[in-house]
Amino acid sequence: MADLNDKTQDQAKKIVYSALKPTGDLQLGNYIGALKNMVRMQDDYNCVYMVADMHSITVDNVPADLRRRTYDFMALFLAIGLDPEKSILAVQSQVPEHAELAWVLNCYTQFGEASRMTQFKEKSAKAPENVNVGLFAYPTLMAADILLYQTDLVPIGKDQKQHLELARDIAQRFNTKYSPTFVIPDGIYPKQGAKIYNLLDPTAKMGKTDDNTNGVVFLLDDPDTIMRKFKRAVTDCDTDIRYDESKPGISNLITIYSVFTGTPVDAVEREFAGSSYADFKTKVGEAVVEYLRPIQARHHELVTDKKYLEEVMRNGAEKASRIAKRTLSKVYRKVGFVQLP
Ligand code: AMP
Repeated sequence: MADLNDKTQDQAKKIVYSALKPTGDLQLGNYIGALKNMVRMQDDYNCVYMVADMHSITVDNVPADLRRRTYDFMALFLAIGLDPEKSILAVQSQVPEHAELAWVLNCYTQFGEASRMTQFKEKSAKAPENVNVGLFAYPTLMAADILLYQTDLVPIGKDQKQHLELARDIAQRFNTKYSPTFVIPDGIYPKQGAKIYNLLDPTAKMGKTDDNTNGVVFLLDDPDTIMRKFKRAVTDCDTDIRYDESKPGISNLITIYSVFTGTPVDAVEREFAGSSYADFKTKVGEAVVEYLRPIQARHHELVTDKKYLEEVMRNGAEKASRIAKRTLSKVYRKVGFVQLP
């Protein structure tokens, strides 16, 4: 998608918005649960993909890490196959309309509604010393992210469902109070089985900010580290390589092997019938290392070329801003802000 303004067949395509927060390094779960689908959706939809750096500062954050990760995320977006000619790839803080619309939406969101958000309650409980207003207003910034592009579809995890519902409520309220302004977005939720668990605690989702990083495989981990993490993966005292909910450790490894080799689960079970857990863990590690090898090589080339990454960011921000400005201008007009001719 060169520009959502283009009068081309692209106009018939639905608009997808997706963003990843650079609060930790990207890991296998992000790839399987989000990034892989983002690549797939590029041909069928007009996609806007963002590095959501503004959301990152709602929790305690090291500026140098945020800066490094913003480049890293953009380089990984490109390395996995997101294409700046097809999709808009941008960094949220470089598109000022996000903050501008968020302010207006704050004024159309009730304190009570925002107080009911589970993520706010959980994050406040986790860091009681930093319950900042930005954390409280996180969902209105997220609503602005989505509504600015007249987004039709938002691929998200179940944990973000409540925030999307709030975005829909705010949009509907605004549309009713004034006149139709925003498209009401729908969520696309990943199918069951797309979830990857921590290798050392296979009952907990693998996450980029997990305390025990030995159970998290980061997309940029070197091959030795990946192999070590898989070899130490927790399994059970059984010996069967069989997908079974009562065997979360081995089932998680089977899912990972299945995704990274493109082998259906039952074929994985047949392939490894009679193998030991130790052999299987080695094979899973090798499959992941081989899959990530070209991605890491490409990432390495890109991340050392800051000039190129900045050019991608600048082009993405310009394209995003062009669309976002149209929505924002409508909103400003409707709420009564004077716009200079
Ligand atoms: P997060 O890293 O929690 O901000 O999530 C960013 C995206 O990656 C969301 O779409 C999540 O649903 C997806 N994601 C994160 N961790 C996992 C996981 N362990 N398994 C599947 N999807 C995940």
